Amino acid sequence: MSPRRSSRARERPGPPAPRGADPGQAAARAVRDRERCAAKQWFETREEAAALALMHRTQWGEDRVPYACDVCGGWHLASRGPRA
Ligand SMILES: [Zn+2]
Repeated sequence: MSPRRSSRARERPGPPAPRGADPGQAAARAVRDRERCAAKQWFETREEAAALALMHRTQWGEDRVPYACDVCGGWHLASRGPRA
């Protein structure tokens, strides 16, 4: 006995989406930010992050830029892409 789903599609009108802001998108971004934050090296100060960024450049020729993180309040290094 399996229920048929085809004739009974669920209809959910839901609340109207607010203009200008997409809460779903913002939430998705927040999750992404948090995951990125957790995966990255953490620095307490900009100086620390900048010091390692300099090391990256001199040691491995990688271009890194320190940025303040909204999630943890610390600093991380962002890798600059080729079209930065
Ligand atoms: Zn962070």
